[in-house]
Amino acid sequence: MELDSKLAILADAAKYDASCASSGAVRGNSLGGKGVGSTGGMGICHSYAPDGRCISLLKLLLTNLCIYDCHYCINRRSSNVRRAAFTADEVVKLTLDFYKRNYIEGLFLSSGIIRNADYTMEQVIAVARTLREVHDFRGYIHLKTIPEASPELIETAARYADRISINLELPTQKSLDLLAPEKSLVRTQQAMGRIRLKLDEASDRRRNGDKKVRHATGQSTQVIVGADDSTDADFLARSDELYGSYQMRRVYYSAFSPIPEPSRILPLKAPPLIREHRLYQADWLMRFYGFKTSEILSPTMPNLDLELDPKLAWALRNRQDFPVDIQTASREVLLRVPGLGVRNVDRIIQIRRYTRIRQADLLRLRVSLPKVQPFLKTADHNPASYLLDSDALRARFVPKPQQLELFASDEMR
Ligand code: SF4
Repeated sequence: MELDSKLAILADAAKYDASCASSGAVRGNSLGGKGVGSTGGMGICHSYAPDGRCISLLKLLLTNLCIYDCHYCINRRSSNVRRAAFTADEVVKLTLDFYKRNYIEGLFLSSGIIRNADYTMEQVIAVARTLREVHDFRGYIHLKTIPEASPELIETAARYADRISINLELPTQKSLDLLAPEKSLVRTQQAMGRIRLKLDEASDRRRNGDKKVRHATGQSTQVIVGADDSTDADFLARSDELYGSYQMRRVYYSAFSPIPEPSRILPLKAPPLIREHRLYQADWLMRFYGFKTSEILSPTMPNLDLELDPKLAWALRNRQDFPVDIQTASREVLLRVPGLGVRNVDRIIQIRRYTRIRQADLLRLRVSLPKVQPFLKTADHNPASYLLDSDALRARFVPKPQQLELFASDEMR
């Protein structure tokens, strides 16, 4: 098969992996497509480097052949999809060609499992090793690893990559048993734990001045949302554990999208995209705003409110904590005010040292006044208590139905 045909098949097959893509990005179909450089087409995607830069990556599967039969995956062994496989040298050549033409700044490489986990990992490593050692490739490399592969191989992959990831796919073993029967939550977590230890060792060596250490600086994972009845509480509880115990850089939430020739146990429809967005917002609240999972969701409320962002929904459930005084409230309290993001809270704390903050100051900081007004006291505004007690307060924030999919909270941008 021609290299171009393989590229079309294997770039398209890789598009279902969200763990290097922006949330909500349009997933283009590169089959039959032309023109390198269109996001999502011919395997170019955007991701964020450890230093925060947005970079373009060549996103490929080494092969879409697979011995596993995960129901949600178009590449599962029972799927009737067209198959292809690159050799390691072909991926190296494509990466270098694209890199030299300035189309990409790195490679994101995943693979179906061929023969067995170790054999597949060896092929993936061969690509990274050749790029680094033979061609002195300094670009970004993100390698998807397989939890069933031997620890030594995963560690070798981490030495050539900037980022490595293992897809958890589903938040509980019960869900895996249903949709990905060959996968084990415990095995995946064990592999993540080993990666975390090696990441810690490498960062200790860097801190101690070892400039030669070559090792990935982080791990990430992906879960599929809406392929079974897992609740948002299931996802967030798992994410909380992953961030705390495995120092995960990112958990990517990928809304299940119906695939051609789907398994009969899958839902016919994709979940609303807004659910994926709300999970990212809730995840953000846990990582940067000091929220606990139990504050965002509970056994009696296991799913996020799709109409309101999770911080606003929390504030409306906890009106007794508001309004807060912008002049005296602690950083932690200000971070819980709907409409105030981390950057604005830090600016407010600076500014209030030498002035009494008025609404005009908030406007200059581009804070949405309608959103903060019920929750915040300023020098020239003291929200009337009837506003906070009003049943109509929620209705004031619920977007009109046609805007729901596009609605994004200011502080999460
Ligand atoms: S192991 Fe990966 S490629 Fe294979 S069927 Fe499962 S999700 Fe798809």
